Amino acid sequence: MIELFATEKLMALYPKVEAFVKEELQPIEIELLKQPFNQAAKILEDKRTIARQLGIWAPFLNSEDGGQGLSMTEFAQISEILATTPFGHYALNCQAPDIGNIELLNKYSTEDQRRKYLKPLMEGKIRSCFSMTEPGFAGSNPVNMDTTAIRDGNDYIINGHKWFTTAADGAAFAIVMAVTDKDADKYRRASMIIVPTDTPGFNLVRNIPVMGETGEGYLTHGEIRYEDCRVPVSNLIDEEGSGFLLAQQRLGPGRIHHCMRWIGICERALDMMCRYAVSRDMGDGTVLADKQTIQNWIAESRAEIDAARYMVLHTAHMIDQQGSKAARIEISTIKFFVSNILMNVLDKAIQTHGALGITDDLVLSWWYRHERGSRIYDGPDEVHKSVLAKKILKQYM
Ligand SMILES: Cc1cc2nc3c(=O)[nH]c(=O)nc-3n(C[C@H](O)[C@H](O)[C@H](O)COP(=O)(O)OP(=O)(O)OC[C@H]3O[C@@H](n4cnc5c(N)ncnc54)[C@H](O)[C@@H]3O)c2cc1C
Repeated sequence: MIELFATEKLMALYPKVEAFVKEELQPIEIELLKQPFNQAAKILEDKRTIARQLGIWAPFLNSEDGGQGLSMTEFAQISEILATTPFGHYALNCQAPDIGNIELLNKYSTEDQRRKYLKPLMEGKIRSCFSMTEPGFAGSNPVNMDTTAIRDGNDYIINGHKWFTTAADGAAFAIVMAVTDKDADKYRRASMIIVPTDTPGFNLVRNIPVMGETGEGYLTHGEIRYEDCRVPVSNLIDEEGSGFLLAQQRLGPGRIHHCMRWIGICERALDMMCRYAVSRDMGDGTVLADKQTIQNWIAESRAEIDAARYMVLHTAHMIDQQGSKAARIEISTIKFFVSNILMNVLDKAIQTHGALGITDDLVLSWWYRHERGSRIYDGPDEVHKSVLAKKILKQYM
């Protein structure tokens, strides 16, 4: 915790969350990862009960919604400790993509949507997914898409092909981005619509194999065909044509959530690196930690993580003070900066462990596979760099 960003509320909550993560989750993380997700979910359900009893449940939510009422800056620091184990966020019901959907619906849902979808989601009784990217179009420029929602009486009929809908398998509903007016301005063509996954025409084609894993349940990326999928017009979020505006609202905080998480993963990887370095006997009277290369990696990782943390907390503070729109450039900057630090630190931690590093006996290899996507999702690095560079170059034109 950095003193500058510490508050009384955070100082009261932080040790409880830290103890929960270290005592309840880290000791069983490998066991959980070795099981199919739906089996692990039963154990995680018990952990969720403990989290509720400890008063640490859903820290990003207000107390009237069952949470702890943290600001973005406070949550950033809790998120970091949760991320030091793969299911930390899941255990407290603040895992992506649900957290993004909760934040979106909390702001824009109708009373009926709130009751049917948001409340059970906040309570951790159901899961959700977010269905925007299509295989046929460049996701980095999502104004182009083929999925349509055509009005028919009091319903929309949705047709389209999506992929990389994370956690669709077992989700109760999807928030689907679809074109509702193809003739409108390109930023007003699409809308977001809630689609329960048991609606006829919601067809989960497959869980897409990624880095050798197909996964199950929450740990999947779904390919979905929407085929004459009929939902009531009352499932529209906000108004017709507001899809891109809502996507920006959802992705801004979503990106910072990822960055907070990545810093936690880096901290754990560095911790593992150091522990291994001091204990690995090299057989010549030295331990691994005596080697200068390892010392360089440790020092570089420390500096990178600390720099990333200050940048992320500064961005979180800006969001708290001025909203996510004002922090747009800062969010783009940390998105590519921190994801690259994550890759660097994980790679060094694995290399330090030698062959052990790439085994599934340690959590490092799981993160290495699962987090490679960090440089792609929520906008690839190149797009965020371009946003930052254009802002800088404007001053020279
Ligand atoms: C693990 C993971 C989870 C995901 N979860 C979801 C989800 O839940 N819901 C959902 O809707 N989507 C999800 N996505 C999809 C994700 O948002 C898209 O993959 C992303 O927006 C990039 O789109 P694309 O894959 O079509 O790549 P493209 O847009 O085809 O881009 C390909 C590559 O081109 C380069 N590039 C693109 N634009 C530029 C530019 N302006 N300048 C220079 N280079 C450029 C980048 O290197 C990029 O990686 C997920 C993706 C991953 C990897």
